[in-house]
Amino acid sequence: MFTKDLIEDLSSNSLEEHIHKKIEEIQKKDKEINSFITLNIEDAQNSSKEIQKKIDKGIQGKLSGLAISIKDNIAVSKLRMTCGSKVLENYIAPYDATIINSIKKEDGIIIGKCNMDEFACGSDGTSSYFGPTKNPRNIDYVPGGSSSGSAASLAAGFTDLSIGSDTGGSIRCPASFCGVYGFKPSYGLVSRYGLSDMAMSLEGPGPFAKDTYGIALLLDIISGKDPRDTVTVESSKSYTKTVENFKDQDIKNLKIAYAKEFFEGVDEKIKNIILDKISKLESEGAKIEEVSLPNIKYAIPIYYLVVFSEFSSAMSKFDGFKYGHYVGGQDIVEAVSNTRETSMGIEVKRRVLLGTFITMEEFRGRWYTKALKARSAIKEDFKRIFNSYDLLIGPTMPTLPWKIGERISDPLSMYSSDILTVSANLAGICASSQPVGEAKGLPVGLQLHADSLCESKLLKGMRAVELACGGI
Ligand code: GLN
Repeated sequence: MFTKDLIEDLSSNSLEEHIHKKIEEIQKKDKEINSFITLNIEDAQNSSKEIQKKIDKGIQGKLSGLAISIKDNIAVSKLRMTCGSKVLENYIAPYDATIINSIKKEDGIIIGKCNMDEFACGSDGTSSYFGPTKNPRNIDYVPGGSSSGSAASLAAGFTDLSIGSDTGGSIRCPASFCGVYGFKPSYGLVSRYGLSDMAMSLEGPGPFAKDTYGIALLLDIISGKDPRDTVTVESSKSYTKTVENFKDQDIKNLKIAYAKEFFEGVDEKIKNIILDKISKLESEGAKIEEVSLPNIKYAIPIYYLVVFSEFSSAMSKFDGFKYGHYVGGQDIVEAVSNTRETSMGIEVKRRVLLGTFITMEEFRGRWYTKALKARSAIKEDFKRIFNSYDLLIGPTMPTLPWKIGERISDPLSMYSSDILTVSANLAGICASSQPVGEAKGLPVGLQLHADSLCESKLLKGMRAVELACGGI
C-alpha cells in the first residue's frame, strides 16, 4: 500500500528532507499548474523538525509528518483563506477548522492552501480569481473542480494527501480528471465547522489520496462527532483496519448494482473501461446485477435549484462590512451593491441572483418546494437499491477532461457534467472516485456509492477495484 509504505519510509528516512523535496517541487513546477494560492513553507519546515524529533522517539501521530494540502475554503489558523475569490483576497482565518485541528494533532504537515473554483461553484477549476488550475497530466486540460488545486497538487506530487470539499461532486470530479483517489463522506460523518458553506444541506469536507489506504487514514482522523457541527455523528474510526484486513476472498461477498442510467450519454471510451472493470470484479466472484434509478434524470435541475437557493443565503454575509473586500457607497444598498459588483465573479453572481429569485415568496412553490419533493424521490431510489446491494458502480464523469476555457462561458454544459455526481449529495450517501485507466492519455475514474454511513463497505469496494486494477 503506497501511503502505508510512505509512512514506514518516513520513520527511517529524514522527514525534513521529504518536506524539503515537496517544497522544491512546488517552487519549480507550480507556476505552471497553479494548484496553490498560499504556501505554508516556513511553518511546514518547522513542523518537519518538530515531528522528526517525535519520530526519533517513536511517539509521532498517525500522519507521521505527511504533507497535506488544503482546499482554500477550509480555515487554517493564521493562514489566508480566499475561497478562490477576490471577496476574501486578504482574509486571514482566525481559527482552525475542526478537521484541521485533528490533522495537526496527528502530525500532518499543512503544506499550503489550494486553488479552487470561486466559492466552490464550478466543475473544472477555471473560475478562480487566482487563475485556472491546470491538469498535471496535460496542462492544456482542466483538472476538474471545484477542488481543483487539491487534486492537482496531489497528482503533481507536491503533497502526500489532500483535503477538498464536495457539494455536488467537487472531490470526485477532480479526482477523476487528475487520476487520484477522492472520497465524499456521508453527510454528517465529517465536521463542517470551519468550512465556508456553499450549500449546507449537501456538502462536507473529504480526503484525496494516492490509494484506498490513504483515504481510510484521513477518514479515520477527520470523521466523528463534533459539538460545533450539530449534524455530525459518531464514527467507528476503524477505516484503515477495514482496508488492511481486506482479503481477496471478500470480493466474493460484495453485491454490486449497476444502474443503466449511469451509462447513458457517457463517452464510449469511458464506458468500455468501466464495463471492463465490472466484468473483472464479476470474474473474481462479486455479484453484479443491473438496476434502475428512474429519478436520476431529474438530478441536475433538483441539485441546482437547491444549490442556488442555499448558496444565495450563504453568500449574504459577504457584504464587506465585517470582513472581506469593501467598496463604499452613498447608502448601505449602494455600498453592498458596489462591493459585490466589484468582487464577485460571474458564476457567483449568477447563482446569487437566481437563488434570490427562486426563493422569493411568490415563486417558492413553483421551484424550490418542488425540488425538495423530488429530492426525496432520489433518496428513495437509493434506499431501494441499498436494501438489496452493498454498492452501486459506474463512471465518475460522463466525459474526459476538456480543454481549458472550453466550457467557461457555457454554464449549462458545465452543469451537465455533474450528472453522475450530484445525486449522492442529494441523498446524503457516501461515494468515491478512483483511477481505473486512461483514454487519449487522460485519466478515467470509476465511481462507487454506498448507503449513508456505510463507508466501510465503500472502502472494501474501493480496495476490491484497486486490487482488480493491479494495485498493491
Ligand atoms: N460542480 C458543482 C457545482 O458547481 C459541484 C460543486 C461542489 O461540489 N462544490 O455546484
